[in-house]
Amino acid sequence: MKQSNTFIPTLREVPSDAEIKSHKLLLRAGFIRQVASGVYTYMPLGWRVLQKIEKIVREEMDKAGGVELLMPALQPAELWQESGRWNDYGPELMRLNDRHERPFALGPTHEEVITALVRDEIKSYKRLPLTLYQIQTKFRDEKRPRMGLLRGREFVMKDAYSFHTTRESLDETYEKMYEAYSNIFSRLGLNFRAVIADSGSIGGKGTHEFMVLSEIGEDTIAFSDESDYAANIEMAEVVTTYNKKDEPLKELQKVNTGEHKTIEDVVTFLKIQSEDTIKSLLFKVDGEFVLVLVRGDHEVNDVKVKNLLDASVVELATPEETERIIGCQIGNVGPIGVQNVKVIADIAVQYIVNGVCGANEEHMHYVNVNPDRDFQVDTYADLRFIQEGDPSPDGKGTVKFAKGIEVGHVFKLGTKYSNALNATFLDENGRSQPMIMGCYGIGISRLMMAIAEQFADDKGLVWPEVVSPYQVHILIVNMKDETQTSLGFDVYHRLQKAGFEVLLDDRNERAGVKFADSDLIGIPTRITIGKKASDGIVEMKDRQTGEVKEIAVDQMINELA
Ligand code: ATP
Ligand code: MG
Ligand code: MG
Ligand code: MG
Repeated sequence: MKQSNTFIPTLREVPSDAEIKSHKLLLRAGFIRQVASGVYTYMPLGWRVLQKIEKIVREEMDKAGGVELLMPALQPAELWQESGRWNDYGPELMRLNDRHERPFALGPTHEEVITALVRDEIKSYKRLPLTLYQIQTKFRDEKRPRMGLLRGREFVMKDAYSFHTTRESLDETYEKMYEAYSNIFSRLGLNFRAVIADSGSIGGKGTHEFMVLSEIGEDTIAFSDESDYAANIEMAEVVTTYNKKDEPLKELQKVNTGEHKTIEDVVTFLKIQSEDTIKSLLFKVDGEFVLVLVRGDHEVNDVKVKNLLDASVVELATPEETERIIGCQIGNVGPIGVQNVKVIADIAVQYIVNGVCGANEEHMHYVNVNPDRDFQVDTYADLRFIQEGDPSPDGKGTVKFAKGIEVGHVFKLGTKYSNALNATFLDENGRSQPMIMGCYGIGISRLMMAIAEQFADDKGLVWPEVVSPYQVHILIVNMKDETQTSLGFDVYHRLQKAGFEVLLDDRNERAGVKFADSDLIGIPTRITIGKKASDGIVEMKDRQTGEVKEIAVDQMINELA
């Protein structure tokens, strides 16, 4: 591409509204332009980077067994009403009416559309599992759009959804996706970490976020300096009443709940269990352990049966399981909040209740608790947030904090959406079962900024080869010099023929402007055609290391390969 032909409006001035390095540089180097708050145009260079990121994501998704499709951004409100999210999603959902006053949403995510699609098309276990994905524009009316592409209101996401007949099958795909995500972020050269994330009302260890470590990150990660333990602080910011993991669990209260057959019974039971201190109950939800915290008589007396089934199978954990999980695997237990006790209580009585344990003693600690959501911390003086220097919840090493940018999120949804939208299949015995689902997102446009943030210096962007808009930048120093121009174009054509993506600066600009722009744009290799053009010699510069060498044109292609 000749620079005289393309559209790279670089800026000398630092735009005043840009707070962070990557945002400033992407604006200055002409990769993006703002249209409205949180809404951007990807300029020709930015679009090329975005497509390269997409290509890597596609390759890894395909390799992991995903199948690409494209769903609409415009989604009828009915689907959102069916899932309950027309109400629950709140003001972040962009809503609009068509000319007949029929309500629509601009999709912030596509669980509804895809679940309805699969529901209508797939009836038999024989067609499952299935993983579908798309790369598509999403809309979220973020409260505070900021930092350019990091938090946009219109942004590009890769979202995948998997459908299964069993938990094991979901686990398998989850693992594959986790691996695919690790491959993607490694290929992009990012310094990242997968962390245990907040699973909201679903619980279990069914969700991880992929965080790019960066000072400008909005999330805080708590991680062990000696093990793989890493969690979003939302989850790890834990309440520790006591932290001596090595001590064996003293005594689990065993309660025979065999006669609890009604919601009232379970609620009464929960109330008894929860007098004057925090208690926790361990449930198994779809085979996944879920720790429920119960505080005082908080809310549990007012149980309403509602459509809540996040899970297809709920049972209370046995004392042995409780001891094993709470006593030994604290770091892996995902509790769910007080407000969800109602939900769990309702689910629980639908199944055989065969054993329960209270686990509120001082030798307990709770991890993966979201303090604001799950209980009020200030009422419990002995509870505190996890802090740097604390022993790691997995017992190995010490907790450290770091800032992170959430670039990906994998999530075991279970049957939340299939229940709500009635997406069922017939199993081998001809019985109707809800599909078990997973969802997996990557912020493609956010990634572009995260990469720019990590790969830059005081002169500009420093793109890693794999996502750079071009591989080679040819710069003709003096366009009035015929020897330089003809050699420049010759090199340009030769490199193109050899399969390189080349940008040629053929503008009638001062050399200083050209060099500054070239550094700003940040293509990995620059070939400068200057005074030695008459000897067939060019200068080759590595943008990252700054290393410069003079080289004969004939050797140049070998050198580049
Ligand atoms: P955040 O916590 O940053 O608000 P999220 O948890 O709401 O993100 P998800 O629903 O998990 O986001 O969406 C999947 C991915 O989409 C995220 O991991 C992130 O990379 C990206 N993403 C989410 N919101 C935005 C946004 N406003 N702008 C750009 N990318 C976004
Ligand atoms: Mg969000
Ligand atoms: Mg998040
Ligand atoms: Mg998320």
